Amino acid sequence: MKKCSACLSNSLRNKYEHVSDYLYNVDGDYNYLECNDCGSFSLFNDISETELTKFYENYFTHSDNLNKGKFKYFKDVLIKTLDFFYTFNFTKAIIDKLVVSYSRKYLFIGGSIKYRILDFGCGNGDQLLLLKNKGHMVKGVDFDKKAIKVAIKKGINAKSVSELRTNEEYDIISLLNVIEHLPDPEMTLKMLFNNLSSNGKLMIETPNSRSFLSKRFKKNWRGLECPRHLVVFSNQGLDDLLLRCGFKISSVYRIKSFSFYLNNSNISKMMKFQYKFIHILISPFLLFTPNLRETNFRIYVKCN
Ligand SMILES: [Zn+2]
Repeated sequence: MKKCSACLSNSLRNKYEHVSDYLYNVDGDYNYLECNDCGSFSLFNDISETELTKFYENYFTHSDNLNKGKFKYFKDVLIKTLDFFYTFNFTKAIIDKLVVSYSRKYLFIGGSIKYRILDFGCGNGDQLLLLKNKGHMVKGVDFDKKAIKVAIKKGINAKSVSELRTNEEYDIISLLNVIEHLPDPEMTLKMLFNNLSSNGKLMIETPNSRSFLSKRFKKNWRGLECPRHLVVFSNQGLDDLLLRCGFKISSVYRIKSFSFYLNNSNISKMMKFQYKFIHILISPFLLFTPNLRETNFRIYVKCN
């Protein structure tokens, strides 16, 4: 019997049936269940390791040009402006709460302290490059050999996940849009517990099953990303899972959801016309809404 991957509840009901891969056209017919207790979605189909590899054959993190899209100039200006204002305490607080955007997820690190940072699922290493240039000691691990190669080319210390050693210790471990892809998130988090220093921070970003757009777009919602998202967590589900792995919530950040849509050049491929149309119409408004909770962005610390 299937259990909720987030809170382990047995009480599940059918959520979406006959969902296919709108983004990369991987063959298959998939179903999602919703947990009656925590509201997380779990992929119903059992996925073999061979199938899992197939999901990622043409995945975007392979590529080297994530940052070369139409919005590159806009993003660069935004980052520079935020960096400028971040040096003032009074605006720092506002930025922290309201404008943690695509490129600024590590903004809360700030200041002059240099950290040891591990990005689990580092992809092509773009996020880490930003941090390395600020003087932090960074390392990335990923399952994807092609992505690792791209990251290494950029000068990032990137390795395969299997090469992560238990005696390595980090002040910050990040899993940005990664946990929903893991076949066994609990095992991974328990492993990472040992790699986090005693007062270290674990930052997780993942789509929110109870978000505004999840409810509106249903199986066409970008955050579902069938079939690569094996679990789509609710806040409660995520906290439950983390608690089983020895972590408690420390802070919650609000991510501007517009970037989640506009940054993905593949978005047009997945959308049926009518959804695309609505998307284009509402996107400008998303810019000004402080919080639609499209993604959970939560910082955890070890339980005492
Ligand atoms: Zn659950």
